[in-house]
Formats: sequence, structure tokens, C-alpha cells
Amino acid sequence: MSWDVLIGQNRVKEIIKKQLENQRLPHALLFYGPEGTGMDVAAIQLAKILNCKNAKLDSCDTCEDCLKVRTLQHPNIQLIFPLPVGKNEQPDDSPYDKLSDDELKDVMSEIEKKSNNPYHQINIDKANFIKITSIREIRKKTSLTIFSEGKKVVIIFDSDKMTDQAANALLKTLEEPIGDTVLILTTSNKDALLPTIISRCQSIRFDELTPEEISIALQQKENVDLQQSNIIARLANGSYSRALELVKSDLNERRDEAINFIAQILTNNPFKISQTIEKISKDYDRVAIEQMLLLMKMWFRDVLILKEGSQKIINLDQKSRIEKFINIYKTINFNEIFELLDTTLSLLRKNVYIHLIIFSLVINLKKKISS
Ligand SMILES: [Zn+2]
Repeated sequence: MSWDVLIGQNRVKEIIKKQLENQRLPHALLFYGPEGTGMDVAAIQLAKILNCKNAKLDSCDTCEDCLKVRTLQHPNIQLIFPLPVGKNEQPDDSPYDKLSDDELKDVMSEIEKKSNNPYHQINIDKANFIKITSIREIRKKTSLTIFSEGKKVVIIFDSDKMTDQAANALLKTLEEPIGDTVLILTTSNKDALLPTIISRCQSIRFDELTPEEISIALQQKENVDLQQSNIIARLANGSYSRALELVKSDLNERRDEAINFIAQILTNNPFKISQTIEKISKDYDRVAIEQMLLLMKMWFRDVLILKEGSQKIINLDQKSRIEKFINIYKTINFNEIFELLDTTLSLLRKNVYIHLIIFSLVINLKKKISS
């Protein structure tokens, strides 16, 4: 655990460690970067270090305070995130006062998921905004006497989701320091924050994770096997949260469909091909098609790698099928195929009609492989 909980992001770790070492941690921090790259995780870890009984630069992860921060139940830590608006909610209510039992249950269960895995993205039904009442709580709670040693930390997840009122209230809070409290904002959409809020925080940028970082983390933290973790790592767009969702998805089925689709394109059965085009255009949304194209790319990458004599393929269980393919299609121009798949991906992102995209992919792929 400790800083190891944060995957990659060595630059970020170094910045924060230095600030702690020099006792120059700012009162307001803004962690921003692509979704699922660990901004929340770093915020929770920093809160843990600031409250750990045994350590100054890293957490011990064994003391009572570390445990309480990890389970998101430490009295010094205040978590703010989007919540639903309760029935007849009044400005004087606390943010939870008017929520129904079901809504409260939903909130509790999301917090529990986050405490089990800090990369989990809190997703509460009808919780579209951070309410002003949540921001008002900051002052109320931080003015209470401190419960234990350590530092009070307020973490605002998805801080770009503050309502205008909430953002203005936060701005006031930032203008008048609230004692010895550290405020950490996280966001994957920095541009949506008020410039005046950004300028009052020290911004720290998080980077997309590399496929290698994601793959290793999946194997070590989630017990995902080598093949699966490599496939997921290349579909996750640099986001570990996205990778976790893919672990739970029917990815194997999707991969088999993608490989079978390639096989079908190469058969000379126009009826079957047109049936498949229909099915994909009807059943797949753009995200699913993007996934399919990436899986196809991965398969052709494996063909190329095996053909060149390396064994470092991703689809380990497909080795004999790939070898068979190599023996049948001896003169493939791989650059052209990767180019075609990349063009198809960019058309997909430009919102071109799906049926047309798939149809033209089939025609062109068939042409490039058979010629
Ligand atoms: Zn500790």
C-alpha cells in the first residue's frame, strides 16, 4: 500500500514528497488529468499521510488513522462529491438531510466501493452536481475542534461538477483560509472550473497510464491473467478505472466476435457478411465498435509479431489460429491494414453513419488481404 496504491505517476509522487519533505504543502491543491488516472487515489493517499501516526513522508498503513482514512471514515477527512437533490431541500439543510433511504443507501454503497478500490468512480443515481450545501459544510466541519492529531483534509471529487453557486461559495472559502486545513480538488475536466478557483490552487497534472502500467497493475492488484490484462490495457485508453470496468465486462466474447468477423470477411459468403454487417450496425454502439476495431488491430498486430518470429503475442490462446492465418495469407501489407483500421476509428469518432463505416471496412479489408 502507501504510495504504491497510486499506479505510475512518478512525477506526481515526487512533487508531493518534496512538498512534504520541505513542509511546504499548499493549502489548496488541484489534481487534474484524464479520467481514471489516479487523482482521487492520490488525494486519499495524501490525506492518509497527513494523518498517519507513524510516518511523515509516507503512510504506515497499519495504524488506526491509516485504516480509518483508507475506509473513508476518518473524522478529519471530509469527502465532497455530486449528490442527488432531496425532496423539498432547503438552503439550510445539510446535504444529506432530505435524501430518501434509497438514495442514502446508494451513496453508502458507492462510498464502500470507493474504499475497497480508490480507482472506483463514484456513480450515484441522479447525482449530477455538487450542491452548495456540501460546500457550506466545509466551514462548519473544519471549525469543529479537531478529533485527533493529524490534519483536516477536505477532498472534492469531480470538482468540475459544482453548481455555479457552489463554485462561488468555494471561492469564498479559498479566499479566507480555513485554519490548518488542506483542500484537494480532483477533476478530469479542468476547463470547466472557474479560473479564479484554479488560480488559488496549486495544480498538479496527472498523465494517462501506459498499457504496461495498466497491465502490471491488473495482474498484481486484480489477479487478472497475462493475456486478459494485456488486452484490457490496450483498450483502456490510459484509464485504470476504465480497465476495472473492462475486467467485469464480457470482453472475451467481444474479442471472439472481432476475430470471427475477420474470418468472415475473408470467406466468400456475401450473404453471411451482409448479415454480420447488419448485426453490428444494429447491436453495437460506437463504443462497442471502437472496441471491436481495437481488438481487430490487436489481432493483426499478433499476426505480424508471430510472422516476424517473436513470441510476444497478446492473444496467447489464438496462437495456432494465427499461425494458420499466416500460412494462408502470405503477402499481407500490414501497414495498409493498420492504416485502414486507424482511418475507420477516426471516421467513427467523426460520427459518420455506422452502417457505411462497417461496409467500407469490410470491402477494403477484403481487398487488402486477398490481393
Ligand atoms: Zn499510519
